[in-house]
Amino acid sequence: MNIIEKTDENIINTYARVQKVFVSGKGSTLKDEHGRTYIDFLAGIAVCSLGHCHASITKAVSDQASKLVHVSNLFYTQPQAELALMLIEKSFASKLFFANSGAEANEAAIKLARRYFKVKGEKNKFRIITMEQSFHGRTMATLSATGQNKIKQGFDPILDGFIHVRFNDIKSLKKCMDKNRDRDAETPGICAVMLEPVQGEGGVIPADPVYLKEVRKLCDDNDILLIFDEIQTGMGRCGTLFAYETYGVEPDIMTLAKALGNGLPIGAMLASKKTEQGFDFGSHGSTFGGTPLVTAAALEVVKIISNPSFLKECRRKGSYFISQLFKLKEKYEFIRDIRGMGLLIGLEIDLSLTHDTNAGDIVLLCLEKGFIINAIQGNILRFAPPLVIEKQEIDKLIDCLDHIFNGITHGEKQP
Ligand code: PLP
Repeated sequence: MNIIEKTDENIINTYARVQKVFVSGKGSTLKDEHGRTYIDFLAGIAVCSLGHCHASITKAVSDQASKLVHVSNLFYTQPQAELALMLIEKSFASKLFFANSGAEANEAAIKLARRYFKVKGEKNKFRIITMEQSFHGRTMATLSATGQNKIKQGFDPILDGFIHVRFNDIKSLKKCMDKNRDRDAETPGICAVMLEPVQGEGGVIPADPVYLKEVRKLCDDNDILLIFDEIQTGMGRCGTLFAYETYGVEPDIMTLAKALGNGLPIGAMLASKKTEQGFDFGSHGSTFGGTPLVTAAALEVVKIISNPSFLKECRRKGSYFISQLFKLKEKYEFIRDIRGMGLLIGLEIDLSLTHDTNAGDIVLLCLEKGFIINAIQGNILRFAPPLVIEKQEIDKLIDCLDHIFNGITHGEKQP
């Protein structure tokens, strides 16, 4: 059996995998088992932001692996303490909790928001408003929080207490809050609003800046916590260390994962001074959360990404990338929209004009040409390259897309 057969035979088939085996990576490139090189515009779904096998991360991991990998959270370790301090210093937060993934970080956020009000004596304030088309993870609580029905199918009964409203629609949020405001002690109330500053899986949809400010105000006026899921948008992806900085709107709770470990599994839930009071001894835990190994890697990641000149470069490259995509939009009628922030970019296609070619087909055509991109929702191309991507690499992808798009307008499916 080859690698693909062994995988498909033995791993429960929950992923739509592309038939490609990768064996190594360096910077923004990946090599497959036949020695062919690809330029990576996905970075393991916005994870390897410093590129593959970044020398400082590799060194941090190997140094730490030869010293101490795990002791549990019954004890203290230096990398964990240093990383916590660094994240606190660089954010709005006063304390944090380390988890192992995005969904786990969101679980912690959901638990904290609920418990915060319990501790305050508001026993029935447990509902959480989240956004239609949002994505918050695959655990039971986070799929319940997620505003996409396809993620929930087959898992009934889903967790009680999540209400979805339209994203970027302040009236819809206000209406929902108003409906839940005048309640007696027995009627459930709203403890939090949870959203992604830029919806990632939902289609790369940035929050409107005015909307986000209004959400903050509505939360303040109604004593409701604001949770930002920055699992995809955080760690420089949107051009600032955290997307909330670009918006100038601070949440009460923020979750991170993905790029925090540049590929090592780590998540974090950061909380403001008032909010962190919701947890105390025994209220939450994780065997692996924040091991010295992953926190040593993440410490290097935060040091590099938070450098203002690194972030400036990300913004510059993001603007360049978007400007080049806009040039394609002028040329090809079927490109309906280009949107994004920093280096999280979406290109929406009007499928009625592409002669039966969908976003997934374009992904495969790009792969043929040596580029890794991603499709979401059937009609959107997502680009989330390593933040270290070079201008010349962006130019190469633009040329490739130009060629493919030209073929599509002429009714060709194959390049
Ligand atoms: N939240 C957002 C915004 C995400 O994009 C994702 C993953 O794509 C998650 C949560 C879940 O993260 P994980 O897959 O690490 O559990």
